Amino acid sequence: NSSLHELDPDVAAAVDAELHRQQSTLEMIASENFAPVAVMEAQGSVLTNKYAEGYPGRRYYGGCEHVDVVEQIAIDRVKALFGAEAANVQPHSGAQANAAAMFALLSPGDTILGLNLAHGGHLTHGMKINFSGKLYNVVPYHVDPQTGLVDMDEVERLAKEHRPKLVIAGWSAYPRQLDFPAFRRIADEVGAYLMVDMAHFAGLVAAGLHPSPVPHAHVVTTTTHKTLGGPRGGVILSTQELAKKINSAVFPGQQGGPLEHVIAAKAVSFKVAAGSAFKERQERTLEGSRILAERLTQPDVTEVGVSVLSGGTDVHLVLVDLRHSELDGQQAEDRLHEVGITVNRNAVPNDPRPPMVTSGLRIGTPALATRGFTADDFREVADVIAETLKPSYDAEALKARVTALADKHPLYPSLGK
Ligand code: PLP
Repeated sequence: NSSLHELDPDVAAAVDAELHRQQSTLEMIASENFAPVAVMEAQGSVLTNKYAEGYPGRRYYGGCEHVDVVEQIAIDRVKALFGAEAANVQPHSGAQANAAAMFALLSPGDTILGLNLAHGGHLTHGMKINFSGKLYNVVPYHVDPQTGLVDMDEVERLAKEHRPKLVIAGWSAYPRQLDFPAFRRIADEVGAYLMVDMAHFAGLVAAGLHPSPVPHAHVVTTTTHKTLGGPRGGVILSTQELAKKINSAVFPGQQGGPLEHVIAAKAVSFKVAAGSAFKERQERTLEGSRILAERLTQPDVTEVGVSVLSGGTDVHLVLVDLRHSELDGQQAEDRLHEVGITVNRNAVPNDPRPPMVTSGLRIGTPALATRGFTADDFREVADVIAETLKPSYDAEALKARVTALADKHPLYPSLGK
């Protein structure tokens, strides 16, 4: 019964170092967030010891009376949060949720229509060496190179030409909202299912600050750790009609024992997401990304070749276009890392550079909003980023400004330094 520090000082030291990294830098990876201590407490609980194959009330193991309670709470809360008819809270991750949903709806060889990876789609939406690209016949749709917006005319044309069995709407790197009713109309026209992967913007939907895909889609998948701010994991929402198929695709179709400790943590995060403080946090998230987009479209920035895809943002992230900058995505990511801001490089549509280098950055505000950043703080962050991307940047001075912001908003003070 030794503590982690006693039993395994090597791992403990790495965990401590990661805590310090999170506390002392500014986390702006758009898919990351800081889970509340209560969520991590649930995730680190004795529920990790329990096997519970099956579903609440129908398990293949004894002793499930308490995990049944936990899983049912998670199901009820997420259904209420998003107004869904049915929910499966067992997928271990977003990729697992998508795989199970597709397994439920499709047979190998069926055609799927998804947003191209280089245009903002996710690996599981049909990338060549992902399961989705290997099992299914993938027809990718794209964003319009002029507007940066998903080309709905192309979606409709491709749907009519290829008659997919599944249309996937959702993204990992896209700064605008999708038109869910239009996607549904197109899916209906060709007799396809519509699956919306709201992994990135689920927190905004939960807060009522982004249109909900739930009334329009047959199936909605999400992660629980991005804007939603919970533990790493996945969820599948569906109509009642599809619930049985989805449940059977998750277990026994794809997974064995569910991670009940993670499901407990998901339940806690759904409770948090239903509260008014969560909505206020998501409002600051959106305000922060609008402030960032505005700063990165000022003349002092555009004149060094930096701009913002689609000219702005409606969501929690900004896509920076470096095609005309002296910096490529890798160099810009490294430079921001040097001043203490963590972001990820990201391909822009029709990127002239290879995927490991890229000509873009994806910068998100959810984690800083969770940390308590106000509009004024976001103005300071945006200015630091703008200055860092200029040829004349002063790394020491910029790093000091980052440290001042980090110190102003202590992260996980109860966990120590
Ligand atoms: N779907 C979308 C849209 C995503 O952006 C991601 C993660 O980046 C996933 C699914 C996969 O989630 P996970 O990394 O939990 O498998």
